[in-house]
Amino acid sequence: MVIVMKENATDCQIAQVKEKLEKWGLGIHLSQGVERTVIGAIGKKKEGMLETIEIMEGVAKVVPIIQPFKLASREFRKETSTVMVGDVEFGGEKLVIIAGPCAVENEEQMIATATAVKKAGATMLRGGAFKPRTSPYSFQGLEVEGLKILRRVSDSVGIPFVTEVVNPLDVEKVAEYSDMMQIGARNMQNFTLLREIGRSKKPVILKRGLAATVEEWLMAAEYILSEGNYNVVLCERGIRTYETATRNTLDLSAVPLVQHLSHLPIIVDPSHATGKRHLVMPLSRAGIAVGCDGLLIEVHPDPENALSDGPQSLNFGQFEEFITEIKPIVTAMGRRLE
Ligand code: PEP
Ligand code: MN
Repeated sequence: MVIVMKENATDCQIAQVKEKLEKWGLGIHLSQGVERTVIGAIGKKKEGMLETIEIMEGVAKVVPIIQPFKLASREFRKETSTVMVGDVEFGGEKLVIIAGPCAVENEEQMIATATAVKKAGATMLRGGAFKPRTSPYSFQGLEVEGLKILRRVSDSVGIPFVTEVVNPLDVEKVAEYSDMMQIGARNMQNFTLLREIGRSKKPVILKRGLAATVEEWLMAAEYILSEGNYNVVLCERGIRTYETATRNTLDLSAVPLVQHLSHLPIIVDPSHATGKRHLVMPLSRAGIAVGCDGLLIEVHPDPENALSDGPQSLNFGQFEEFITEIKPIVTAMGRRLE
């Protein structure tokens, strides 16, 4: 249930409500809004609980949460959450553009990419150091060496970066080097990984699983939130359908649907969704038009020779053109790039 405190509720009244809930063995999640404090209480309901809390000093109302995902739901938090990564804000007016190669291959590649995408207008850099490849014979990433390259390049070029973590045992290491972590589609229901990331408090992009329903995806987010990490950004990256002409099918309806059900920011990844370079720009325009908070775009200095995902990667010139092409839609939606 959600306990909405009165606008003028005192710290002491909030503490009394928390104490009461804790005595019942409920998990407490505080959300400090601009005007009022909201307390999320998660756990087994007991008879008379609701009525007891309702009449406590400073309490405006008590609302049961109907959805199975509690902390991720709009019922818990009415305003869209913002997630900060340094100066980059997810869920604000400015659209977040994340760009970079599928995988970190070497330092020169990353310096060239970071410089080019920043100049063109990207706000964040991406690059995989640990690659969750479908085939065990494909390039698996530079691992810790890749993290070190990303950190050095990010610091020298002045752009924060996001990178994927695939193993719960690596969370601490990846959190130490990175500005933001990513949970890939193949790991969306790796519950040990979700809990570990929840405990790390580092901002995280949670990609939708290859064949996950929106509810399963939001339940995965709930795992992270329930451990106390509220810095979750969702990413629609296409789902498996009968269509094989594209790598996946980009489910754009998920964007406004998730925004209806949840307060978490949501971005779109048209690169992994389509697997085709020429579809990245039109689907990005569509993603912006349905209201996404950002885009994740694969960019490589030499896509033809990329170690992974070359066919869906834009080169630097194409990325510059891409930024120009999305601008009118960004403006039309009342958002901005700078
Ligand atoms: C990625 O972003 O590098 C990636 C592997 O994407 P996904 O998990 O969506 O397949
Ligand atoms: Mn990729």
